Amino acid sequence: MNTVRSTNPHDPEETVAEVPATPADQMPALLNLAAHAGREWAHTAALDRATALTRIADDIDDDRDRLAHLVSREVGKPITEARGEVTRAERTFRYFAQIALLPEGDVLPGGDARALAFTRSRPRGVVGLITPWNFPLVIPSWKLAPALAYGNAVVFKPSTQAVGTAEALAEIVNRHVLPGLLTLAVGPATGALVAQSPVISAVSFTGSTEVGRQVVATVSTRGGVAQAEMGGQNPTVILADADVEGAVTGIVGSAFAFAGQKCTATSRIIVHEDVYERTRDALVDAVRTLVLLDPADPKCQVGPVIDANSRDSALAAIGASGGRILTGGGKPDAPGSYLEPTLVEVPGSEDVLATDEVFAPVTALLRARSATHAVELANATPFGLSASLYTRDLAAALAHTRDLEAGMIRVNAPTTGLDHWAPFGGSKQSSFGPREQGLAAREFYTDSTTIVVGP
Ligand code: NAD
Repeated sequence: MNTVRSTNPHDPEETVAEVPATPADQMPALLNLAAHAGREWAHTAALDRATALTRIADDIDDDRDRLAHLVSREVGKPITEARGEVTRAERTFRYFAQIALLPEGDVLPGGDARALAFTRSRPRGVVGLITPWNFPLVIPSWKLAPALAYGNAVVFKPSTQAVGTAEALAEIVNRHVLPGLLTLAVGPATGALVAQSPVISAVSFTGSTEVGRQVVATVSTRGGVAQAEMGGQNPTVILADADVEGAVTGIVGSAFAFAGQKCTATSRIIVHEDVYERTRDALVDAVRTLVLLDPADPKCQVGPVIDANSRDSALAAIGASGGRILTGGGKPDAPGSYLEPTLVEVPGSEDVLATDEVFAPVTALLRARSATHAVELANATPFGLSASLYTRDLAAALAHTRDLEAGMIRVNAPTTGLDHWAPFGGSKQSSFGPREQGLAAREFYTDSTTIVVGP
């Protein structure tokens, strides 16, 4: 039997999970089963769907220790952050259990006073969820929970590097939903099958920009609905009046926690020249104190990157940069795929570290002549996922949040850490289609029908 094996980035010799691959020739039967179960689920009372989601949240809570260690070992996430991911997954299911009970549409005035006109949202049918390795529990959860809450069947295609966590989550969900409603599609080839299958009416993708674009093109061409959350090159702007120490503390977490492998991680720090030297020195001091350790150790602040290829491409980007390394830049003498937290002062917005998504603990520092110049530098990339701005001036904050080209903007807070009920998504080439999370999720997971009942 073909299997997919995940390994521990801290110790690549260690197998974390080995999961049977889903044979391509079994996909049609699984999809038919999902479509059948989906029709029944769509007619299940909203309260019963809500109860199932609450039970899933309860099971995640009961299993939190095992899940956190699994996430930590499988993707090299510091255990304290992996525990946070479990909590967020649990809360996401609880949140959508409540959302399942919200009104399904609006009542409109009838063209004839005796008529009844209303809108009603209904499930899309079978939805495909294609997910990355970096948040192996919570990204699937923020897609699965609304998909199920709104009455859909699901084909869940996880990253091959996080199959153990995906299997654990699918087992929990399957305890509480109809047989066949959730299909776990494991293996490198199943993503393309999900994108191509006409049984799957909508596909939600999170991952790299390159793959996301292919998925959107395939799904749209066959008339399906596509949503894609993709890469970022997230800026933090520090203005002359900012609380520099507070900003540095926030940035060090958002740039280097989980080794810079969050899609919203800070990858560029753009500092007004009036506070540039002070900020640079404080950043260097703070980055040098970061503790590189086995992610299983609660003292770990920065773990390894996902694999040796990822580390090599980060080192290649550092080598190709025309900037000056302020700290880091090397690989520690350890068996795992570790890379020193690296801060590079780059000459301008064309530098590779300011244009490309490196997805590692590598951050570029840029000097801005003015607040307007800082915003120009922040926008000088095709990406537009998350941005942050540090200032004490409310008027400046409001003006610059209007001009910053990003789907999510946080003022006096880092680029990472949006709450689970807030709409999540980017602008420009970071995203395609409706937002995820919160009330915004309804747009993707349901279709609206307008119904008019004549007198
Ligand atoms: P990836 O694009 O390599 O893989 C994502 C998923 O797509 C995986 O399940 C993979 O198996 C699948 N896939 C690969 N080729 C496919 C194909 N041809 N058709 C269909 N599916 C296919 O991304 P990754 O390395 O797992 O994750 C890292 C990337 O994800 C980064 O670029 C990061 O920015 C991005 N990301 C974005 C967000 C966001 O919300 N914007 C969140 C997390 C991660």
